[in-house]
Amino acid sequence: MKLFEFEQHFPDEASCRDKFRQIRVKEGVVCPHCGNTHHYWKNSKQCFQCANCGYRQSLRANTVMHGSKLPFRYWFIAMHLLTATKHTFSATELQRQLGHKRYQPIWEMLHKLRSIMGKRDDRYTLKGNIELDEGFFSTETPDSRKGEKLKAGVGSQKKGKVLVIAESADVENAKPGMKPKKVGHIKMIVIPDLKATTIDGKAVSAVNPDSSIITDACSSHTNFKNLFGEHKSQVIDPKDIGKVLPWVHIAIANAKTLFADTYHGVKPEFLQEYLNEYCYKFNRRYFGEDLFHRLLMIGTSYQPDFEHRIYNSKAA
Ligand SMILES: [Zn+2]
Repeated sequence: MKLFEFEQHFPDEASCRDKFRQIRVKEGVVCPHCGNTHHYWKNSKQCFQCANCGYRQSLRANTVMHGSKLPFRYWFIAMHLLTATKHTFSATELQRQLGHKRYQPIWEMLHKLRSIMGKRDDRYTLKGNIELDEGFFSTETPDSRKGEKLKAGVGSQKKGKVLVIAESADVENAKPGMKPKKVGHIKMIVIPDLKATTIDGKAVSAVNPDSSIITDACSSHTNFKNLFGEHKSQVIDPKDIGKVLPWVHIAIANAKTLFADTYHGVKPEFLQEYLNEYCYKFNRRYFGEDLFHRLLMIGTSYQPDFEHRIYNSKAA
């Protein structure tokens, strides 16, 4: 959505509330008490009332805004900014744009939006020809480990381990200069270690079992032949990585650049949230101006898992 359209459609708090209610009704309000989906809107109380049991829930309850006291318009502006460009916004920048005096609620709002993006993408598994590899993202030292002596050369930076998976179909008769493969959807999943059992579990939940999966010859992938339709494992010369696993490495490089350009540092405990946003937008790169409405739709139907609160701390 273009900026002037946003201003036109959502000039104030009331227009944002109305739009949110309208979409929530369209997506379906569910009673958390009895599961009924038929509700009345009680205008005097600004809440939904279940037609079956009478249970009332506010407009924000059981949505991305659950428990939030920020204006609806803040949420709309955040969704607009997150979807209007290929880039993203740090909480510091959004706080500055909104002129809000406290950092923490703005930071939480962005992470809640990233959380529902991840929940939405978790509904889908990748299928067909699949590239899979591990990526290593620089993260800050977690607060709990500050003061510990880190290994020489590591400095204050730690590496977050990420399983990166991409649907990647061969391009027939690729012309010189063209990429040999065409990318579909991607997933990036933070993993605690590189053990085969850890990676097997994550790969199985992310990839359809009929898929044909290509990886390097690392021992972490030895069980894939039993888990997927086909496993192509090969020793890859680093100079050939762009031919064999092009899309996982393009995605890793682009996400790293984006994070480095936008955030002062990413704490390891929040790395997954930033990856959620990156993958969500990558997977919807052809949606164009519809992206804002899609995010608004899932905003009415998903409640974020994100409830982390660290007051008086600046985290990305
Ligand atoms: Zn009910």
